Formats: sequence, C-alpha cells, structure tokens
Amino acid sequence: MSLRIAVKPKLEKGERFDVVIVGGGPAGLSAAVYTSRFLLKTVVLTIDIGGQLNLTNWIDDYPGFSRISASELVTRFRDHVQSFGVKIISGVEVKSILREDNMFRVIGSGGIDVYASSVILAVGAKRRKLGVPGEEEFLGRGVSYCSVCDAPLFKGRRAVAVVGGGDSALEGASLLSSYVGKVYLIHRRSEFRAKPVLVKEVLGRGNVELLTNTVVTEILGEESVKAIKVLNRVTGETRILDVEGIFIEIGFQPATEFFKSIGLEVDDYGYVKVDEWMRTNIPGIFAAGDAISMWRGFRQIVTAAATGAVAAYSAYQYLIEKGLYGSVNFK
Ligand code: NAP
Repeated sequence: MSLRIAVKPKLEKGERFDVVIVGGGPAGLSAAVYTSRFLLKTVVLTIDIGGQLNLTNWIDDYPGFSRISASELVTRFRDHVQSFGVKIISGVEVKSILREDNMFRVIGSGGIDVYASSVILAVGAKRRKLGVPGEEEFLGRGVSYCSVCDAPLFKGRRAVAVVGGGDSALEGASLLSSYVGKVYLIHRRSEFRAKPVLVKEVLGRGNVELLTNTVVTEILGEESVKAIKVLNRVTGETRILDVEGIFIEIGFQPATEFFKSIGLEVDDYGYVKVDEWMRTNIPGIFAAGDAISMWRGFRQIVTAAATGAVAAYSAYQYLIEKGLYGSVNFK
C-alpha cells in the first residue's frame, strides 16, 4: 500500500521561507506542525507524504491510538499540517542546498528553487540490500523489501523466506505466516534486535521455521524466485530452500552522500550528526527522524515526531538569535 498524493508544485521560483522542511514523514510533518505554531513561513518538500508509514499497515504503538491504520495516521498528520496553511509539495527530490545571500537556496526536482532562513532535514533512510546474486535480477519477481506491502501478493504460496532480525522482519514473518504455507525466518545472528513480544509471537506460529546464524548467499530462479541458497555461519552447512519469495527486511541506509555533499557531518553509519537540539554542524540546518545519528537503535513514529518537534523549536530559536525571526513571514 502506498499513499502518494499527487500535488503539483506551486511554488514561485526564488520564493522565500523562514524554514524549508525536506521530507514528509512523521518527523517532517511533526516539524511542520511546530514551525507553524511558531508562525514561521514553512514549506514541506518531499518525495512522498508519510515516508515509511506508507510501508506499514497497522500502527498500535502511537500514543492516543490503540490501533490506527498507517494510511489514516498519514492523512491525519497531513491534514493537521495543512490546517495551518502549510504547503506540502510532494513528488520533489531535493538535489542541493547552497548558502547564498545569508540564506539557504534549496534546489529540487520539478524546477523547485526556493530560499530559506533555516532548513530541517527529515529525509529518512532507504532500505538496505543484501548484495547477493539474484537480488537485483528477481526484484519484483519474488524479491521484495516490504512484507507489509507485498504479503497479499503471495497468498496461497507454498513457502517464502524473510531475512532479518529486527522488528520489520519479525512483523513481516508474522504477517506472511497467515498468507503462505511456510515461512523461513533467516537471521545472521542468534539474538534478535526485534521487540521480545514480536519474537515470542512469531516463534509461536506453527508454520515459521527459524534459521539463526544463517545468511542468504544466492537467490535462484527462472522467471521468478524458485529457491534460495543459505549458509549456516557456525556449522558451515549450506542448504537450498525452495521458496517462491524472499522478503529482505534488513534495515535502512541513510542518504549519506547527499548529507556529505552539502557539508553535513555524519556518524560512522552515515547518519547526520546532531546534538540534543537536533542541530547539525551547519548553523541553520537541523535534522530529525530516521536520518539522524541519535536513537539509531530505536526508530519509532513517536521518536521521529519528537525529533521533528525539537528541530522546529531549534529553528525558531535560531531565527530569533540571528535576528531573522519575522524577516520572511511578517514582511
Ligand atoms: P533494524 O532494527 O536495523 O534491523 C535490521 C536487521 O537486519 C538486524 O537484525 C540486522 O542484523 C539485520 N541485517 C542488517 N544487515 C544485514 C545484512 N547485510 N545481512 C543480513 N542481515 C542483516 O531494521 P528494521 O527491523 O527495519 O527496523 C528499523 C527501525 O524501525 C527499528 O528501530 C524498529 O524498531 C523500527 N520498526 C518498528 C516497528 C514497530 O514498532 N511496529 C516496525 C518496523 C520497524 P543484526 O541484528 O545482526 O545487526
């Protein structure tokens, strides 16, 4: 399921903002709620609205909602932001951020070329790949990076594999076990990163076979995936598993090259370094959500929203300190 709302960019070339927010997931949209409340002229530039929420189905750990569909939560976030009159321009990939005339010039696809006194980067992270033979070849023909999106397509199939030991893999295995005959859950270690409650639930499923200390070395097939080759790293045993699909749920990769290209410092994993106020090494640029170095092991909607709110507050403080508050919105 992907919620993409087609909004044609309607920004004037050279238009000026107090803050440009790059990214329309929970962090960016939360930041927009707060910048609006601080009366900062704000625009959100984003590839899609909702970010990784578009890759999940049900949310049952966002405070205030015991259970809400991800698409409903995205709609609520979006409506909340738009209720303040903030434009959300989707379908935009920001290509560069330059320093010009004491402002940031933000250039993106679709002819986006605007100026901002401050920037909040909430660009999230991309899905990590295994890098094994067959992975590229069978993409969309049995290889998937999103169990939640693609599980229904495998309804009634004999067997699939899920790779990973985090929440995504465990949630994926749980979901897939109700669609297919058998699920192999393959994890490279013996300890899980996922929440214990998820691990317990999945291991209680009669049709999930757990292969720990095991890695996938090749994806085999003809028209589509037919099998995978796996290696037990402890025993050295290799096996061929007959599966019709493989769901690679091994986490995310930040937009490190983009961050470096604009002069941002990154941590050893490539995430933007921020302090506790979401300040990057470049004064006036703040970062939030899954793009940041902070709380790397615990990415949640609520943590993304929290860092977005803090980034907005810091942008507001920055504009006051620099004597820039009101220089755009109240002119
Ligand atoms: P993650 O927590 O980073 O876990 C990635 C898993 O993939 C780890 O077990 C890792 O193994 C494994 N892995 C990484 N690279 C690998 C490789 N090259 N080959 C084989 N295995 C590899 O990622 P995630 O599960 O996608 O979760 C990301 C964040 O979103 C987490 O903070 C998670 O809590 C959150 N999330 C939350 C929910 C929820 O609350 N409902 C749902 C989904 C995701 P190691 O353990 O050995 O490093």
